[in-house]
Amino acid sequence: MQQFAMHVDGKDRLSSSGDWFETEDPFRGEPWAKIARGTADDVDAAVTAAHHAFTRGDWGSLTPTARGRVLSRVADGIAANVDLLAELEVRDNGKLLAEMRGQVAYLPEWLRYYGGLADKVEGTVIPLDKPGYFTFTRREPLGVVAIITPWNSPLMLLMWKLAPALATGCTVVIKPSEFTSASTIQLVKVMEEAGLPPGVVNVVTGFGAEVGSPLIDHPLVRKVGFTGSDRTGRHIGAQAARQLKRSTLELGGKSPNIVFDDADLDAAVNGVVSGIFAATGQSCIAGSRLLVQSSVHDEVVRRIVDMSRTARMGDPMDPGTQVGPVTTRPQYQKVLDYIDVAIEEGATVAVGGRPADRPECGNGWFVEPTIFTGVDNSMRIAQEEVFGPVLAVIPFEDEQEAIRIANDSRFGLGAGVWTSDISRAFRMSEQIQAGTVWVNVYRAVSFMAPFGGVKDSGIGRENGISAIDEYLETKTVWINT
Ligand code: NAD
Repeated sequence: MQQFAMHVDGKDRLSSSGDWFETEDPFRGEPWAKIARGTADDVDAAVTAAHHAFTRGDWGSLTPTARGRVLSRVADGIAANVDLLAELEVRDNGKLLAEMRGQVAYLPEWLRYYGGLADKVEGTVIPLDKPGYFTFTRREPLGVVAIITPWNSPLMLLMWKLAPALATGCTVVIKPSEFTSASTIQLVKVMEEAGLPPGVVNVVTGFGAEVGSPLIDHPLVRKVGFTGSDRTGRHIGAQAARQLKRSTLELGGKSPNIVFDDADLDAAVNGVVSGIFAATGQSCIAGSRLLVQSSVHDEVVRRIVDMSRTARMGDPMDPGTQVGPVTTRPQYQKVLDYIDVAIEEGATVAVGGRPADRPECGNGWFVEPTIFTGVDNSMRIAQEEVFGPVLAVIPFEDEQEAIRIANDSRFGLGAGVWTSDISRAFRMSEQIQAGTVWVNVYRAVSFMAPFGGVKDSGIGRENGISAIDEYLETKTVWINT
């Protein structure tokens, strides 16, 4: 079995307790690696290393232009290691190799984009209302940033925080999910081989209470960047706030994918199916509620059911596979429990609704792509995040009803609208409560486009130019002339 130590100050670090925990391969349903089980002492060592790096000449006092160039070299280093990193991701989270390769191959763009912004962070001179002073602002990095990530897209969601943090001159301690630590450790090694100084990015592995919580509490940590469930996010946000530390919270969703009868139905059907079943539905932006206009309800349902029934399941490393396993054993059970809840609530199974019993799925944690019809938006299957391959179909009559149902959710992360009416597209994008609205496309993301949630889907935005502000403090300087 492979072993992965933590990574602190450019070196492997074993847990101060000497303990390890196992990480499982969701396709084989068995452990494949041991990960060091970190403690508060390991957190302290990692934060101390990050703090030294922040104040040291080879990072903290590098010119922003030089820092940007390092990030550009690091981007090239990652680009040369896409297969290595993508395969580790698949081993841990069971997502399709093609998707993980795509995600990892896209990571360097974040470093190039934010590396390019590093020397464009400018203060301002204030045209003051009082004579006799020269007053200006400086934009300064916060210091040590804690990044806590989930298991579903470990490297991509990490990079959304890591690249802007590094570009501003901050240093970082990462706590990856206990289910998917290996790729993060390897990523940081690749970054250092490409020229990132030791201590600038550190990784502590282990469990939320044992590692994540002391990391948030550490007095030298100035900000917490978190992606994960809204339950944990609430807890982490409150813990950070108690110490007056900033936090960015990217949380869950129950995103509506809304199909009007004037839509290009071929495109809409593809967008709906990939919107929920890509990544086996384990995506914060999964389009897990299909709102479909009554006049095309039966046709759309027939087509998505046909596509789902014939989806190829199996080994995520196999290029022919379309739907992989659920990433973790507890998540597998949670998805099956939600299927029972939906049936009890009176929803109808149009396809799927059970564990996959196919030879190509072996002992893995597979659930058949599942579509429920006859769903009312008040049901739990329409209100709670399943985070699995389960779609709830809800009919609507007109635009107003679609908006009402779409917004009748405590979440507000993403939303899809499928229509050929441009005016309707504008009206819908204005009225839907969500951080992102996609029209005639679904699940598109870019380093340039701000991303985040409203309502219970989170606080703050990642990606785009303004994300850099999340890692900067403004200092105002008054000079008596
Ligand atoms: P999770 O909340 O269970 O765990 C996320 C991370 O928090 C893990 O690293 C975990 O160890 C850590 N953690 C748990 N308790 C902690 C504590 N008390 N203190 C500090 N750290 C703690 O989430 P998950 O199950 O790994 O991920 C799935 C969730 O993430 C889903 O709800 C999904 O919607 C959400 N998600 C959101 C986005 C987004 O950008 N909005 C993206 C992907 C996933």
